[in-house]
Amino acid sequence: MTVAYLWSPPAVPTLAVRGRAERAPVHRLFFVGRNYHAHAVEMGRPIDKGSEAPFYFTKSPSTLVESGATVPYPLATKDYQYEMELVVVIGRPGFRVTEADAHTLIAGYACGLDMTRRDLQLAARDKGRPWDLGKDIEHGSVVSEMVPMPGVVVERGAIALQVNGQPRQASDLSKLIWSVRELIADLSRHYHLQPGDLIYTGTPEGVGPLQPGDRIDGRVEGIGEIVLHVGAAR
Ligand code: MN
Repeated sequence: MTVAYLWSPPAVPTLAVRGRAERAPVHRLFFVGRNYHAHAVEMGRPIDKGSEAPFYFTKSPSTLVESGATVPYPLATKDYQYEMELVVVIGRPGFRVTEADAHTLIAGYACGLDMTRRDLQLAARDKGRPWDLGKDIEHGSVVSEMVPMPGVVVERGAIALQVNGQPRQASDLSKLIWSVRELIADLSRHYHLQPGDLIYTGTPEGVGPLQPGDRIDGRVEGIGEIVLHVGAAR
């Protein structure tokens, strides 16, 4: 039976897939907070892995934007920032998976940008309020094509970002506090992971502000590249 809607239902967000005509439908967007020591320090909140668990926030899949896009500088902030991240694409369901089995959920990887209204995020953080106004922002989840790498656990490789050709972030995936295996196992304790779930694994140090007209170029060694243009404020 055909369903009649009062208005058009939203389109399913999707990723381009390298080497394939099909696109990958996206289910949920998970983001890991402070997952590189040097970034945790620059945020003023170092991580003690021995006594802390990873933490997460989510963004609506409707915030997804493809690499190469021009996004407006959001009006509600004076401190719009980039965060370059490795993105894990989940391709199989999994709940309470072990670290040893975590790789079986992996469909591939992408490059991602976790765009942030830093002033609003920190104001919320410091008042103990949710981060949504700082993080779950329109056009705020940028993603490259997915590179199919089923069952492959990425453990090292350079991750870097430039703004207008100037280096801003440079680190290595081997510096992730919680690894891809650990993140999948831990997140699957809290959620029944599903195909199309994306895990943004956190950003290295060097985050900073953007201005209208800026061009961002990011790359992850062995995965690919991502581009974003910051348009006029609106
Ligand atoms: Mn982030």
